[in-house]
Amino acid sequence: MGELLRELRGDCDTLGCWVGNLPRGCELCMEGAKSVIFVTGVCPERCWYCPLSRARKGRDVIYVNEVLARDIKDVVTEVAANLSRGAGITGGDPIARLDRTVEIIKALKDAFGRDFHIHLYTTGYLLTAERMAELVRAGLDEIRIHVTGEHSYRALAIAAGSGIDVGVENPAIPGTEKKLLDVIRRAAKTGAVFVNLNELEFSEGNEASLLLRGYRTEDGVAATGSRETALHVLAAVVKEGIDISVHYCPARYKDAVQYRRRLARRAIATRMPYEEIDDSLVKWAEISTDEGVSKRLIVSGLAFIRGDRVVTSCTLAKRLGLRHTLVKAYPLSPRKVIETREEQS
Ligand code: SF4
Repeated sequence: MGELLRELRGDCDTLGCWVGNLPRGCELCMEGAKSVIFVTGVCPERCWYCPLSRARKGRDVIYVNEVLARDIKDVVTEVAANLSRGAGITGGDPIARLDRTVEIIKALKDAFGRDFHIHLYTTGYLLTAERMAELVRAGLDEIRIHVTGEHSYRALAIAAGSGIDVGVENPAIPGTEKKLLDVIRRAAKTGAVFVNLNELEFSEGNEASLLLRGYRTEDGVAATGSRETALHVLAAVVKEGIDISVHYCPARYKDAVQYRRRLARRAIATRMPYEEIDDSLVKWAEISTDEGVSKRLIVSGLAFIRGDRVVTSCTLAKRLGLRHTLVKAYPLSPRKVIETREEQS
């Protein structure tokens, strides 16, 4: 491990840690500047650890981050609302709906420019040289192959010749160090430049399957032993001198850092004049004062009518000594209220 610690960058408990270079897609994700586009829940694979929820698995639905999208215009709008500088296209298998995936890539590049970074996840089961060429023509920047079998190596070989960044992304299943190292050695020989090892996560969709196979969780999120497996593999890659970057992405990080940073960007992009940003949330004051005062504030542009309420900023309500209810919410559309508190000024 001593050798590993010298090479290691990042922080294994928060941001994630890696040897070599961090993929561009991960750099943007760390800033909260990537949107996650779930193109379809349809997938030809049957992974026992599949984390998809019942609402998504096998269902031909599109989500951008947590929001259901009806069409490609919805996708572009939601990406704009998150001030994203890139997107990760996932599923299901995006190749199972290739036309839709290609259309989304083109629409995002048209709307946000060539520098908008797009990466895509697939096991490669349905990938052919023609399909790969179509994705690259549309503007795909990076592809991540989830290795599930021989077909994934065939897909890696196809992707490696395409001129875009190619990597592997697999969960670090506890106790599978040898298998993961074999995957990494083979991926490096096939042209992959990075490998992402995700801490295995318990989710609504895979909990029963993981428990049945003897995996456990102490914090309700990460599978016990997954972190150790990933770090063991990182150390072995350094020791063997395999010419590839390897990144370990902790499950907790997704919520603690990436999600909150993304919300903070959404708060900035969608803030109403009466809202203030509080960490990654928005807050405002619903004032309960006599009609005359409310009317004066509205006429002056200091308060606004929101549904059947009169709202203003918490700072102004305090400054003017107005009795009000402080409301805190996730900056989603519509706002998702998580706290209300009576404030007696
Ligand atoms: S490839 Fe992904 S979406 Fe498909 S079954 Fe496996 S984990 Fe689930």
